[in-house]
Amino acid sequence: PAQTMEQLVSLCKRRGFIFPGSAVYGGLQGTYDYGPLGVELKNNLKLAWWRANVWEREDMEGIDAAILMNKLTWRYSGHEETFVDPMVDCKQCKMRWRADQISGKCPNCASTELTEPRPFNLMFKTQIGPVPDPESFSYLRPETAQGIFVNFKHVLDSTSRKLPFGIAQIGKAFRNEITPRNFIFRVREFEQMEIEFFVRPGEDEGWHKKWVEDRINWWLSVGLSRQNLEPYHQKPEELAHYAKATVDLLYRFPHGLEELEGIANRTDYDLGSHSKDQGSLGLRARVSPNSHSTDKLTYFDPETKQHVVPFVIEPSAGVDRGVLALLSEAYAEEQVKPAPADRLKPVEEALGTFLKSVSRNDKIPAQAKEALLAEGERISQALGERLPSVTGLLSMPGAESIEVAKKLRGQVDPVVDEFYRTVLHFKPHLAPIKVAVLPLKKNNPEIVSTAKSIRRKLQSTGAMRIVYDDTGAIGKLYRRQDEIGTPFCITVDFDTLGEGKDTALKDTVTVRHRDSMAQERVAISELETYLREKMQ
Ligand code: ATP
Repeated sequence: PAQTMEQLVSLCKRRGFIFPGSAVYGGLQGTYDYGPLGVELKNNLKLAWWRANVWEREDMEGIDAAILMNKLTWRYSGHEETFVDPMVDCKQCKMRWRADQISGKCPNCASTELTEPRPFNLMFKTQIGPVPDPESFSYLRPETAQGIFVNFKHVLDSTSRKLPFGIAQIGKAFRNEITPRNFIFRVREFEQMEIEFFVRPGEDEGWHKKWVEDRINWWLSVGLSRQNLEPYHQKPEELAHYAKATVDLLYRFPHGLEELEGIANRTDYDLGSHSKDQGSLGLRARVSPNSHSTDKLTYFDPETKQHVVPFVIEPSAGVDRGVLALLSEAYAEEQVKPAPADRLKPVEEALGTFLKSVSRNDKIPAQAKEALLAEGERISQALGERLPSVTGLLSMPGAESIEVAKKLRGQVDPVVDEFYRTVLHFKPHLAPIKVAVLPLKKNNPEIVSTAKSIRRKLQSTGAMRIVYDDTGAIGKLYRRQDEIGTPFCITVDFDTLGEGKDTALKDTVTVRHRDSMAQERVAISELETYLREKMQ
């Protein structure tokens, strides 16, 4: 896995997974854009979730509700009143922080002169319609869940579902986070994959337990390892006001062990809150009186002939945090063969010179300088193992302003190319690109046209992305595909054309495996079946 966030940020930018948002205008804090590979990875993650939770289950339906909702939704859901974080200001440098994420000291200037925490509502307010009437506003949804609750009756009536059943949704959510940070971990615009699973009161605890197990198993199925995943049972005093129990699934991100998904038992709070005639419903949860709702969000139980308000189990996962976990878990810098000492020596010297001029440079802000030196120190202590990380080091803030950076890069690149590789060990079904078809010689028209036709044929048969690449020598092309996690490379060479020593190899290609780097010969006519099997 990745050791530092820098490794991921650098790879993501360099290879087109994730870019900082609005960069040409100096950026917009808390926003990121997914590039050509990032969108494929993210779509694959969402599809894997949808497949497991909607298609493969017999007790689930999907919806896609509007982001904009009647503002009353957010009054009765409790968000207007309670969706707040405690905020403090630093009296020295005027920066603002989330009080529960700092330990009594300003992370910017280290001052301990902070204001008292005060509540800050995280919802983005937005005007609805052309008339600037103070009442014509709503919020960008801070979670997708409410779109499911207000559609409970629609889904029930249109599908004739019986309890227990669930509704799943994937979509954007927006939170005006006080301090967005840690790359795509905490952002102001993100996506959620949420399930509201409706059960009979009394059966909620068993279902809650079952969902925690299901969700852990699903994260394992997309490639996270058990030792990096930790269920955390919230203590009674940590629970949200509506929750009877919550289990957070924590993941060991490069910046620490933090929440990837929350699985809450929300009782009958949500359906009860959005219902009229609440007094007649026998609610267990304490809800605010609702004078606007036009319906009772209840379920008629055909067995007991009674109307009940179902309890809700909510597994709520962040798509972006999922993408970050996948990247982090898959990331590896591997030595292909040991680099000899005489090749490492000049690199070591160039790194030393670079770090010296970093520490002498007064133009680099203190925080950036500290990060650069710490990362440089880490690398130089285990240079033989960590050499590829220099690329990440050179893309950290402040690094590019150092004159000797170019010299260091010049020393590092050839050694890395020869002895190392960066790999993303994605499970095949999540890899942005499943297969790359490569010509051994790009100036041989027959090799090129055979390679291109293999790509076209494979692409037309499967719902997976397959690319053709001839932008370098074959060794370089393999490394590039390793670095973006492509599980299979197919190489077309002279043997394929029947022009090699062994004419029996005509109409076969080399299939090279990303993880083992092993190569085998496969007939072109069998490629499709071969790949389909390996992709399972
Ligand atoms: P945190 O305590 O980290 O702020 P939360 O407990 O407020 O998260 P929930 O309200 O439970 O988060 O939201 C469900 C999921 O949505 C989280 O587990 C997370 O994966 C994702 N999520 C929440 N806020 C953000 C954010 N600002 N950026 C990215 N993902 C987020």
